[in-house]
Amino acid sequence: MAEEEHLNPPGGGRRSKELYDRARQLMPGGVNSPVRAFRSVGGTPVFIERGQGAHLWDADGNRYIDYLCSWGALILGHAHPEVVKAATEAVRKGSTFGAPTELEVTLAGMIVEALPSVEMARLVTSGTEAVMSAIRLARAATKRRKIVKFEGGYHGHSDSLLVRAGSGAAALGVPDSPGVTAGTASDTIVASYNDIESVEEAFAKHGEDIACLIVEPVAGNMGVVPPIRPDTVGAQGGPEGPREPGFLEELRRLTLENGSLLIFDEVITGFRVAYGGAQTLWGVTPDLTCLGKVIGGGFPLAAYGGRKELMELVAPSGPVYQAGTLAGAPPSVAAGIATLKLLQEPGLYDGLEQTSARLCEGLRQAAEKAGCPVCINRVGSMFTVFFTSEKVTDFATACASHAERYSAFFHGMLRRGVYFPPSRLESAFASSAHSEEDTERTLEAAEAAFSESAGWRTAGGLGAAPPTLP
Ligand code: PMP
Repeated sequence: MAEEEHLNPPGGGRRSKELYDRARQLMPGGVNSPVRAFRSVGGTPVFIERGQGAHLWDADGNRYIDYLCSWGALILGHAHPEVVKAATEAVRKGSTFGAPTELEVTLAGMIVEALPSVEMARLVTSGTEAVMSAIRLARAATKRRKIVKFEGGYHGHSDSLLVRAGSGAAALGVPDSPGVTAGTASDTIVASYNDIESVEEAFAKHGEDIACLIVEPVAGNMGVVPPIRPDTVGAQGGPEGPREPGFLEELRRLTLENGSLLIFDEVITGFRVAYGGAQTLWGVTPDLTCLGKVIGGGFPLAAYGGRKELMELVAPSGPVYQAGTLAGAPPSVAAGIATLKLLQEPGLYDGLEQTSARLCEGLRQAAEKAGCPVCINRVGSMFTVFFTSEKVTDFATACASHAERYSAFFHGMLRRGVYFPPSRLESAFASSAHSEEDTERTLEAAEAAFSESAGWRTAGGLGAAPPTLP
């Protein structure tokens, strides 16, 4: 196989390079969202021309099996005909009115029906906006200032959430970005995911000031880390995992005891790990839920929602102001409705589960064969291959995974036509469009890429694609 193996040129090829050179003159770092620039894996980003089903084609015509799925948005794969049809029909009738439509009523109804915690929802345009608005609402409802988030938890780029803490648990936040004032950051308390003691400490110190705690119920932005039981650290959570009071249940208890609201940021997990999100899988009901990605079927759309009495505080029924020119724009909402309808088809999540389980088991075996220690965390169709021999249960263990090995693996896969997330602390996603043949091809590529990764230090570099280390 080695001699005949076709390898894509690093960075996609000539056209991608030309575009990147031009893009860097016109946009900061040549991109519109930082991770797209491949800074943490090195090399040149590949410019994408089109996607269909589980596959992407770049500007030079190279094909890739896509496990990014637009950061989880594309649970049905690229350009699903029903989704394209719904969005096209909507845009033909007018792309935006700035006035209410029937489509919004339909989608809000579907969200309320799907999520146990949501009695009313507000549609917005991005996950950042959903979270920012939910936090404003929590602060207004509780008349308190502080919020608790977790180290390594990403909730969009609004000021009070661009904080991840220094070394100590339950530390008062320091800004992650210039431009976020120390004053804003000091209202954010950062605790450690899966470490209930760090949360207890935060509430013991600041309980009366804490408006809300926000958590990704399955962490996705430190790579996939499921919530676990405090007394079984190391065990996998998830549907087959332990069911007794665990991390999420403890968060529910602590927030209730302290009169704070619990916000589940299900921007990734909503309609992804199950139709009813992680809250259905783990049976924990938050006060507010943030959604994004899947609910827009690949179009700009997000939402926040919760109990009626809370949501009725939002303008115009209440005083908490929040608005949006393109909120609930028909093409996005129509694509979202079409996506959710397809997700209701019997067996869809079972299929995703089977594809993802088979893929992750194959990846584990391929890594083992190559002598490359990995820990693969997976919940449904979201998974991360961490290059470490330790279990990954929190941000610290995720960060301890090997950056250079991930880069070597990433580039090895990319050159063999498989697109993984361009950062080791991210989730990969499978879609319902991924076939058995895609899995086979991915695993073939993975055998070679894991071998290169295992030998990254001794193999004399990575041939044509040496990673620039972050
Ligand atoms: N919350 C979570 C859990 C996310 O993963 C993201 C984006 N990846 C956001 C919020 C922000 O969403 P957006 O990029 O649409 O602003």
